[in-house]
This record gives sequence, structure tokens and C-alpha cells, in this order.
Amino acid sequence: MIWDKQHECMDRKALQELQLARLQQTVERVYNKVPFYREAFDKIGVKPQDITSLQDVRKLPLTTKAALRDNYPYGLFAASLKETVRIHASSGTTGKPIVVGYTRNDMETWTNLVARVISMAGVTDEDVTQICFGYGFFTGGFGLHYGMERVGATVVPASSGNTEKQIMLMKDFGTTALVSTPSYALYMAEVAKNMGIDPKSLPVRVGLFGGEPCTENMSREIQEQWGIKVTDNYGLTEVMGPGVAGECCEEPGMHINEDHFLVEIIDPVTEEPLEYGEEGELVITPLTKEAFPVLRYRTRDITVLNPEPCRCGRTTVRMKKIKGRSDDMLIIKGVNVFPSQIEAVLMQVQETAPHYQIVVSKKGFLDELEIKVELRPEWFTDNYKELLAIEEKIHRYLRKILGIGAKVTLVAPNSLERTTGKAKRVVDLR
Ligand code: ADP
Ligand code: ZN
Repeated sequence: MIWDKQHECMDRKALQELQLARLQQTVERVYNKVPFYREAFDKIGVKPQDITSLQDVRKLPLTTKAALRDNYPYGLFAASLKETVRIHASSGTTGKPIVVGYTRNDMETWTNLVARVISMAGVTDEDVTQICFGYGFFTGGFGLHYGMERVGATVVPASSGNTEKQIMLMKDFGTTALVSTPSYALYMAEVAKNMGIDPKSLPVRVGLFGGEPCTENMSREIQEQWGIKVTDNYGLTEVMGPGVAGECCEEPGMHINEDHFLVEIIDPVTEEPLEYGEEGELVITPLTKEAFPVLRYRTRDITVLNPEPCRCGRTTVRMKKIKGRSDDMLIIKGVNVFPSQIEAVLMQVQETAPHYQIVVSKKGFLDELEIKVELRPEWFTDNYKELLAIEEKIHRYLRKILGIGAKVTLVAPNSLERTTGKAKRVVDLR
């Protein structure tokens, strides 16, 4: 088990001193090594010496995804390729990907931080872990792989896809810890059932899920289908990959590895700082990165920070489950909704399965919304009246809980696309 008590249970004041010293080093590094940042500093008249307290982080420029894309591929690197031992990239659905690098020290830090998150979830060297994240540019696969090795778990590097074989491996190899996206976990459960295997009969006891949002209700669904303990962990390529934050076994919320990441919450529109407990966009400054040290990275992920001490003994701030990305927010007839809020409503309907799609189109200035959701096989019927009644019920729930009117379309079991990676729930026709 990798539990770095010295850093994870640190006194807040000592932690803040450490954060400040590391922030100063990082600012110095980017100013000297990354022309993009030097120019940005000069433009607003800030020098590395101006950072004398943690609050001074607000003097620094925010970094957006666009800046990373514009500097493709190596423009924001603060280390030479000779010092760089690994490259990863984030998918970038359109156009060029975002490229990040790691020095040998970065790899060591990354491995340790993922190992912490794994240990928080209760995985030890007694576990056999099947990593069903894609290996390759995606940071999830290799990130969890190295972290699991550090913990001493037996790693089965299955990668994603070939789902029937995944189930066979779980059974034959005695997999106890499953790593995947939440949506792939649901798909795997479905495939197991189609093979005549009850997922609960498999040796898996704990799941480490990440890479995409997953509501409490969806977590519960996975927990029930698999009969396992479900944990959430968070990270993103731009600041490192997995290892930023993870759930412990005691209380909800993901502990942020604050000795390596300085976090802020801002209002995504005004960019003004928000307090603990207020919902907004998470902004992250990695404090120890050598090859790719971005400043104040705007994650676009919406969450809330909770500084309350946790029963587990860790003193680090916890982040609530991600509500969604600020750019995924829909404005439906003047009401702001996140896909996750729609998911939370759908998951309360007993007749429908956890497979849905949100189709957005534009009528005039407003978004029009259609929600396609699968019936559970046991509720499948071709009785039109019954179907209509279920659609009407969901329509009513959405209006009552979220205040939005949406067209609800029930579709046959197994008719929506399944994913072995991150689910694409929103189809945007605008
Ligand atoms: P890509 O941008 O190509 O999908 P990343 O793996 O870097 O590649 O994606 C990181 C993003 O995935 C995060 O910014 C966040 O939106 C989402 N994400 C990762 N982990 C979680 C999680 N546990 N809960 C919710 N969203 C997550
Ligand atoms: Zn805890």
C-alpha cells in the first residue's frame, strides 16, 4: 500500500508552505523555459518574484485548452526531448491533439500519485487487477498500470475491447480489482450476462472508475450489477493524467493530491475566484512537473471543493463528483442543465436501462432536447399505450426535477451504441 502519510495527512499550514515553495519553483521554471509564458507574464507585467503568497497565484495567467492546441506539439515543453522519456496526448476530437511530456522525475511522481489513489480505494499487493482502459496515448491505461505495479498488485494489462475475452480473463485469472470507465463497466456486465455469467459471481471485489462523469445513481447501478465496491478517481492529460484525485474508503468526495496540485474554483463566465463549497470550474496548477508545467489550467470541469477533514485521516481537500464540463452545459428554454442531471433523473426510472443518448438541436435561439433511453429487457413491450405512459412519466420527472421540457423517446434494449472507453452521450446537431 502506498499511503504517504507525511504528505496526505499534512497539517494545512505546513502543506501551504510546501505548496508556495513549489509554486515559486514552477513559476520560475516556466518563465525561464517557456517563451509562451514569458511573453504572457511580460504582457501583464508580472515577474516570478511577485509570487510571495498562495493568493498571488491569481496574478498568473489562466491557461486554456486552446493555448495548448496552438502550441502543438512541443511549444509548451519546459524540458528538452533528451530529458523527456514519455509522450501522451489527449484525444482532441477535432483537429490536432494536445501533446504532453514527462521527464524521468515526472514519471516517478505520476506513478506515486496514481499509487496513492489506488491505495485510497483499498487495493493492495494481494489484488489481481485487470486494466480495461485503452493503452496508448490515453493516460488512463499506462497511468493505472504503473501505479498498480508500484502498489504491488498483479497487473493484467487487458486494455479495452474484446469484451467476451475480458470476462473470461476475469474468471480464469481471478481478477479482484477492475479498472475502466464507468460506461465500459456497465457494458461488460451486460456482455457477461449474455454469456450466461452473473457478474456478481466473478471474483471482482472493487472497481476503480474514471475518465468520464458518473452520477451517484450510475455508480449505484454499477455497484448493484457487479456486487462490488465502486470508487471514482479523477485526472486529465493536461496536468498529468490519473492520479490527481481519488475516493477513499471512508467518506464521499475525491481527495486531491494537493502537495502536487494547487486547486482553485472559478466562475467559468467571470473567471472570478469562488470559495470552498461554491460550485464552479476547477482550475489546476501542477506544482512539481518538469516537462509540461502548465499554470492555472482551466479544466472546464464543474465541481465543489470540501475542506472538511475526512475520517480516513487525510487532510487534503476533497472534490465532489464532476457535474460535467462547462462546455457541455445545455440551455434548454432558458434553463441551464448538465447531462449528468438528466442522467440522475433517468436513473430513478425503474423501467429504463442506464443507456441513454441526449440529442440537442436548435430551434431559433433555443436548444431543443430529445432524450433517447432504452427500456430494460424485462420491461420490454410493444404495447403502445404502456410505452406512452412510461415516456410521459419520464417527461414529467424531468419537468418536475430539472424544470425542463424534453421529448422522450423509448428505444429497444441494446439499440444504443455501447462503448469500451468514454461514452458519447450527447449528440449535438446544432
Ligand atoms: P480527453 O480530453 O481526450 O478525453 P483525458 O483523459 O485527458 O482525455 O480527459 C480528461 C477529462 O475526462 C477530464 O477533464 C474530465 O472532464 C473527464 N474525467 C476524467 N476523470 C473523471 C471523473 N472521475 N469524473 C468525471 N469526469 C472525469
Ligand atoms: Zn478520506
